[in-house]
Amino acid sequence: MLFLKLFPLFIILIIFILVAVARSYMRSLISPKEKKLDQMIACSECGTQVHESLVVKKYGASYCSKNCSSI
Ligand SMILES: [Zn+2]
Repeated sequence: MLFLKLFPLFIILIIFILVAVARSYMRSLISPKEKKLDQMIACSECGTQVHESLVVKKYGASYCSKNCSSI
């Protein structure tokens, strides 16, 4: 009955794998998510939310358009 002798070891192996999978899953939940590039920034002049790729930066402030940055 070799199978019965190995059965407990087999169960331990399965538990070990489950714990490893659960740990990696928990780690992926805890670890900070990658910084999103599509961040919205509020215009310093009118308060409009602008995509950071469209933001006009002037004198350290962020504006939604050249109209706002020129005021
Ligand atoms: Zn604006």
